[in-house]
Amino acid sequence: MNAAIFLDRDGVIIENRDQYVLGWEDVAFIPEALEALRNICNSPFRIVLVTNQSAVGRGLITLETALEINRRVVEHVQAAGGRIDGTWICPHSPEENCSCRKPKPGLLLQAASAMNLNLSHSFMVGDALSDLQAGWAAGVREAILVRTGRGTHQSRLPQVADLPPFHTFDTLAEALIHICSQVSCS
Ligand SMILES: [Mg+2]
Ligand SMILES: [Zn+2]
Repeated sequence: MNAAIFLDRDGVIIENRDQYVLGWEDVAFIPEALEALRNICNSPFRIVLVTNQSAVGRGLITLETALEINRRVVEHVQAAGGRIDGTWICPHSPEENCSCRKPKPGLLLQAASAMNLNLSHSFMVGDALSDLQAGWAAGVREAILVRTGRGTHQSRLPQVADLPPFHTFDTLAEALIHICSQVSCS
């Protein structure tokens, strides 16, 4: 099986900020997320980050800086005993109307093409409805909301009623346990 668990970054792995993550000093890991990633380290899933970073397109940080932050996030996860096998970033502002900014599926499609992933066996976990929409548009098996980051607020938005049904969990750890209850993770 070459399937992925796609993870949003801000609000899932690191704390979401009202202002953008503009430098490493803005990065605060969600401690239990690191533990959750360590726990699925031996699973057959590719672990793939898919993150909108419109701060680049808005001219607030350079693409170089955004990529460097992602590199350090990956290193930090590895140092904590986990792994991230790929990182895909949308650097565009909404006005650029690109095909990769979630809720569009471009990041997942790029990753699937480059990493030879079977999307229909893959999962998407995010703290925003746009993460779930990107997952569905890419054809993932299941898209899951977590209540970390913006998740609690997002789970209460009226638009939820217009979306396909989805599972919501308090933590990344619980979301991953759910995934592993659907598909063998060992
Ligand atoms: Mg997020
Ligand atoms: Zn984009």
